[in-house]
Amino acid sequence: MKGLCVLGATGSIGVSTLDVAARHPDKYKIIALSANSQVDRLIEQCEKFKPEYAVVVNETAASEFAEKIKSKNLSVQVLSGNAGLVTIASLPQVDYVMAAIVGAAGLESSLAAARAGKRILLANKEALVMSGQLFMDEVKKNNAELLPIDSEHNAIFQCLPEHYEKDLTASGITKILLTGSGGPFRTKAANELENVTPDQACAHPNWSMGRKISVDSATMMNKGLEIIEACWLFNTSPDDIQVVVHPQSVIHSMVQYSDGSVLAQLGQPDMRTPIAHALSWPERISSGVEKLDLFSIAQLEFEQPDYERFPCLRLAEESIRKGGTAPAILNAANEVAVASFLDKQLKFTDIAYIVEKTLLNLKSRPANTLTDILEDDLAARKEAEQLIQSRVKQD
Ligand code: NAD
Ligand code: MG
Repeated sequence: MKGLCVLGATGSIGVSTLDVAARHPDKYKIIALSANSQVDRLIEQCEKFKPEYAVVVNETAASEFAEKIKSKNLSVQVLSGNAGLVTIASLPQVDYVMAAIVGAAGLESSLAAARAGKRILLANKEALVMSGQLFMDEVKKNNAELLPIDSEHNAIFQCLPEHYEKDLTASGITKILLTGSGGPFRTKAANELENVTPDQACAHPNWSMGRKISVDSATMMNKGLEIIEACWLFNTSPDDIQVVVHPQSVIHSMVQYSDGSVLAQLGQPDMRTPIAHALSWPERISSGVEKLDLFSIAQLEFEQPDYERFPCLRLAEESIRKGGTAPAILNAANEVAVASFLDKQLKFTDIAYIVEKTLLNLKSRPANTLTDILEDDLAARKEAEQLIQSRVKQD
């Protein structure tokens, strides 16, 4: 029996994780759940899974939550704030931590899981983008296990040989082929992108996800963040990663070997597959995902990515080549710009503009400590906010 902590339990990945875990009550015991402010959904989850701990990050929502828990006679210990997240990610009775908070808000609790030597099921790619070296060092130092939930990275992991992490070339690997659907605007002309709405951007053709990652998919910043994520997870550089646009989202990524072999992982676009894989690795468990029917899919297509219409790809690559806190600056500016776009303050095409300007205006530095990373994250947020204000005034 493995004790499971789900950070971001009320989100898209959190809900899918609980769905898989509920199919195997003999294997996984839910120890702790967290939410930012969605009290009612968290209450339902507590009623169903009877965790020992629940964290509601927002203080006001936490008091409301504690009241409701009391009136329902549930024996759940209620914590709040970032400190609460760090506590539940480090509990001795927790073996596995699903890191499924969106954005920089998940960094400290994901790091805490690494420091506590847990098996980390990493969905929160932003944490690795911000703190790559530090995160990987903590994983190693504390004998934690890091398993990717992002479908592409989970696919790559499944296609890699054992002990790949020492040196991809020595393992006969010549390229990582990182697939992406191309998002909802794959075929839209450049001049049509300016006036797309948040709802259009969030209407992903194949995947159903939270709103932030949906916008990232539409700008292809998601693929950019995934290049950075792959560099850290698989000890490689952008030179060895080729983005492949694959509109059907059936192949979740591939690994090319020196003998000409290309290994791919295929499946339905349903996150319960990578979640079940990482929960049970190296074994396999059922996930509730429908079988893949190749005859009904019939065709798989591949295209080159378009770096002109989707400049976020280039910006992400440039930031990881620069290194240090540059990816943290990129990530922070992107989070602010995406929130502003979702709030209908900023145009879709201005997301890339704000990220590029923020990177130009701020000086990055080595990402040696969490304090340095968080300082540059904050500086980038302020800079991006200011740039957005002056951009909005111009219009
Ligand atoms: P979501 O918006 O559906 O859920 C986010 C979760 O994080 C919620 O539980 C929310 O309560 C919590 N949260 C939000 N802000 C918070 C804050 N400030 N402090 C603490 N908790 C906070 O997002 P999602 O789609 O489930 O994505 C979660 C992560 O997984 C993201 O990093 C995303 O990039 C990654 N991911 C998601 C998918 C997917 O299919 N949804 C696929 C690959 C990777
Ligand atoms: Mg992905």
